[in-house]
Amino acid sequence: MLNTATIVCPHCQQPSVETMRVRMVERSIRCSECGETIAAPADKHCVWCAYADMPCPVVQNDGSCNPYK
Ligand SMILES: [Zn+2]
Ligand SMILES: [Zn+2]
Repeated sequence: MLNTATIVCPHCQQPSVETMRVRMVERSIRCSECGETIAAPADKHCVWCAYADMPCPVVQNDGSCNPYK
């Protein structure tokens, strides 16, 4: 399982490689580039599923709701 992902901040558009929490659904994180809060839209599972280049570990574990399948 991969728990690092490249996330593109919707505020500053800067990609950064971040470590995803394996057992937690993260609805918001803080951008390490600009310090703004990156919040997941209501229709997305979490910030990783919304803005990163791969689904989060929670979704990777549960293939039934994997939007990338
Ligand atoms: Zn940012
Ligand atoms: Zn997710």
